Amino acid sequence: MRYDGAIEELRLREYPVLQGTTYLDHAGTTLYAKSLIERFSTDMMANLYGNPHSASNSSQLTTRRVEDIRLRLLEMFGADPAEFDVVFVANATAGIKLVMEAFRDQEDGYWYGYHRDAHTSLIGVREAAFEHHCFTTDTEVDEWIGEGGDGVRRPALFAYPAQSNMNGRRLPLEWSRCIRDKRGSVYTLLDAAAYVSTSPLDLSDPDAAPDFTVLSLYKIFGFPDLGALIVRQASASIFDKRRYFGGGTVESVVCLREQWHAKKEMLHERLEDGTLPIHSIMALDAAMSVHQELYGSMRDVSKHTSFLAAKLYEGLSSLSHGNGASVCHVYKDSTSTYGESHTQGPVVAFNLQNQHGGWVSNAEVEKLAAIKNFQLRTGGLCNPGGVASSLDLAPWEMRANFSAGQRCGNDNDIIRAKPTGMIRVSLGAMSTLNDVASFVHFVREFFAQDASPAVTPPITLKQSKPLIASRLHVESLSVYPIKSCAAFSVPPRKAWEVRREGLAWDREWCLVHQGTGAALSQKRYAEMALIRPSIDLEKGVLRVRLMGRLQETASTDEITVPLSADPRLFSDENTFKGANAKVCGDSIKAKTYKSRQISDFFTQALGVACHLARFPAVGDGDGPLACSRHSKPHLQRKQKAGELHVPGAFPDSRAATAGTAVSKPILLSNESPILTISRSSLNRLNELIKADGGKAAQAEVFRANIVVAEGLHYPPGAEQAYAEDDWRYLQIGQQYFEMLGPCRRCQMVCVDQQTAERNQEPFVTLSKTRRFDGRVYFGEHTSHLPMKNGASALVQNPTIAVGDAVRALLSDEVQDDNMYT
Ligand SMILES: *Cc1c(COP(=O)(O)O)cnc(C)c1O
Repeated sequence: MRYDGAIEELRLREYPVLQGTTYLDHAGTTLYAKSLIERFSTDMMANLYGNPHSASNSSQLTTRRVEDIRLRLLEMFGADPAEFDVVFVANATAGIKLVMEAFRDQEDGYWYGYHRDAHTSLIGVREAAFEHHCFTTDTEVDEWIGEGGDGVRRPALFAYPAQSNMNGRRLPLEWSRCIRDKRGSVYTLLDAAAYVSTSPLDLSDPDAAPDFTVLSLYKIFGFPDLGALIVRQASASIFDKRRYFGGGTVESVVCLREQWHAKKEMLHERLEDGTLPIHSIMALDAAMSVHQELYGSMRDVSKHTSFLAAKLYEGLSSLSHGNGASVCHVYKDSTSTYGESHTQGPVVAFNLQNQHGGWVSNAEVEKLAAIKNFQLRTGGLCNPGGVASSLDLAPWEMRANFSAGQRCGNDNDIIRAKPTGMIRVSLGAMSTLNDVASFVHFVREFFAQDASPAVTPPITLKQSKPLIASRLHVESLSVYPIKSCAAFSVPPRKAWEVRREGLAWDREWCLVHQGTGAALSQKRYAEMALIRPSIDLEKGVLRVRLMGRLQETASTDEITVPLSADPRLFSDENTFKGANAKVCGDSIKAKTYKSRQISDFFTQALGVACHLARFPAVGDGDGPLACSRHSKPHLQRKQKAGELHVPGAFPDSRAATAGTAVSKPILLSNESPILTISRSSLNRLNELIKADGGKAAQAEVFRANIVVAEGLHYPPGAEQAYAEDDWRYLQIGQQYFEMLGPCRRCQMVCVDQQTAERNQEPFVTLSKTRRFDGRVYFGEHTSHLPMKNGASALVQNPTIAVGDAVRALLSDEVQDDNMYT
């Protein structure tokens, strides 16, 4: 469907619900608000309402009116006052808290189960529970119901939203009845706050009704600011154990010499602490009347809003960029259908993408929407479970994002090429077809792109050559999660993120001496080679395994540490004097893990008292890079190998001298973000070692991140060993890298990474063949060059993979203005 056609179609279409009434723009809202406030003010001017509980006329009038309105509210839901009571509360959250208090005050505490789509206010109930469980799918709930039985020794409460406040998806209302049928003693709490704003809720059958229903009246009527808790009388006894009482909730209180009190009879009297918001309750009466006069019944509102939501969904989903890519990614639940009011409410949650698939920042959308006077909401939407599952954010990512400065409602909303929140548009009784059409038009006007300005690579070639023709490819990618310990090989074809500070997860952790705080290295503790960390993104853990002879040293040969930098895992910085770990003489603020189990594991393995420490995430701290170290200044390079002059060394460099000062953030790696070696050069080196009867060196001893190899069809003799001495830039897959200069070597390359034994090779042969100016070099320092512009996934989430084609670029192949300084 072409969009312009769609707009016309919307305009011409017979408008089925509010016939005869044309509300354009915000006129509907204005008319409603004006009528409501007028009705309320007429009431206020005509009557004097006193505080209830007195004999005065004004007080009696209040009591009578409040009772009538309570009844009217129950009627709105078809609830029989003999079966239900309604408790006025400040908002839905206050209603949830009342229920939570009742369960908290049970002798053995309570079990709490809640659905993934729950609003934050429902999730908080778990904090007071003895045990709690988050149901991540509907099927899981159905299975749990199907199991039947009470199953639990203590009171149990199951809570879920009737409508997700994230994407408007409506959950099965029959769960309350099913749970009562199959799991007798489990209470149900229905959060109807989002649902009732555009839908009738039928409580006429007390056997099918939830035990507790909470709602926000202001979400239906706009005004007054009130909430309600509707309780099934049959379940009211759970509140008997509520310990608190306040003004108005007790018949009699004794506090001198004896402590005794008698609670009031009616449930609402016992739960409404203090003076009721009586004027708000009066306003509720006016709101119910005006709402019905203008918008008809809640059934009408439901039909009207469902119709509009289906139009909005169609309109947004059909928007596309000039190149055919979609503009809106809508987070619709697979079980729901727009237009079907029992599965979907009038809410559309989505994110916008540019034509290259990159995400548009919500903060940008929000600013423009505000200018155009659209009232929409962005961010985490107070629905952590729903948002995390829709955005596919693992707990470690949410924590990492939090550490990187992401907070609900700030501008920092695209992290690792994933949005951290979404945009939500909700429709109500007062929304019109015109509102829908103008919103779709707005998104198209500002976010649909016609031409496609491609991303610009960071360097310009004098002559373009196809990458395919290259004879090089990535043979392996390795990260060293714990500095100086064994490598983790990135699985073949797995797209691995390249960050400014190097490959993702490289040197995020280190081991620090408990006394000095210095970072341990293989130079002194060769056995570190036998400590093998691996990154398990599925489970969200760093797994550390002891290999070879270390297996006997500790009581267990494997531990796991969460990838999330949960602040509770770390020692208080002040309690550990050595918290400023030293890497290459630089003091860095690594946070040590306080777990005894973790420290014992490494201490027993290496025979030296040490802690595991974590480098704080880049962006954590005061400034954007407050805590990260910066790489040594750009290394000066000369093209002829014989003139190589490189300051600094791996692994223990101190010197940082001349060169163009490009400071790049790195974590705990010693010198540059990434180390690249060439398989051809390694083969040449090993031929020489073997010719002398020595033991060939494995790639691992050089602790490279990237091993670049020539294709198999280049026989050994035809390989170009040490071609990397002349490389200026590398293109790996779609990403660009700058070569910073050769890497200086020391005897650490002699530690066999499988056995932790020290050899003479490859250092002896290296010093015979690769020594310049008294220094020995092998491998190249490398750093990633981000694309210059554009917001595609290439830019937002740069990745490389094993098998990627590699093109080496020499200085004379690139334009001079490329000097990346
Ligand atoms: C708005 C909302 C809440 C919170 O309601 P308050 O009245 O702000 O306490 C809880 N749950 C859902 C589903 C909501 O939409």
